[in-house]
Amino acid sequence: MIIKSSDFVTSAVNPFQYPPPDFPEIAFAGRSNVGKSTLINTLVNRKNLVKTSSTPGRTQLINFFIINEQISFVDLPGYGYAKVPVDVKKKWGPMIETYLSKRENLRAVVLIMDIRRVPRQEELNFINWLERFAIPFILVVTKTDKLSKTKQIKQHTIIADTLAADKNNLILFSAKTRKGLDHVWTAIQEKIK
Ligand code: GDP
Repeated sequence: MIIKSSDFVTSAVNPFQYPPPDFPEIAFAGRSNVGKSTLINTLVNRKNLVKTSSTPGRTQLINFFIINEQISFVDLPGYGYAKVPVDVKKKWGPMIETYLSKRENLRAVVLIMDIRRVPRQEELNFINWLERFAIPFILVVTKTDKLSKTKQIKQHTIIADTLAADKNNLILFSAKTRKGLDHVWTAIQEKIK
């Protein structure tokens, strides 16, 4: 994918604030600090389109971006951050559920996981949501550069088994080495055509 432009559009909490559903949309989700912002920035070849921030609570909004004036990217707030205040945590579920159930131009969600971690209930719940709303999803396992090749293979199997997913449907990615970058783009293009 040749990136000609990538721009921030707006932040939203509720559907009234979403931009018009004019373009096919791909949303990105994952545990806080999983590498979601880094993945989006790598996909669009920008250092800082999405602010990589370890400050919890700063990113509790749904952020919309437009790529090449033809694809909408959505950065969903990360889940599972222990330091996020309880009231913010309570709002996360309804905000995401509303987005997933109401966004008519949403074509797929990219669910990002860390290769070093076994998926937990949050990931399984998220996949359940996507299945309930019949939203296609792309599974990406990131930070692969953090493990040796042997350990990558082992974790790949463990993650697939935990999700009851086919190993071939789990894309191995690294922002550092750019491994899997083309594969993620191909999967996205597949969903928006
Ligand atoms: P987010 O909270 O999910 O948006 O996570 P960030 O994108 O801010 O990433 C969290 C941390 O992981 C940052 O320090 C990133 O530099 C680091 N990171 C993200 N992706 C990778 C990767 O593929 N490899 C390595 N080694 N570090 C990564």
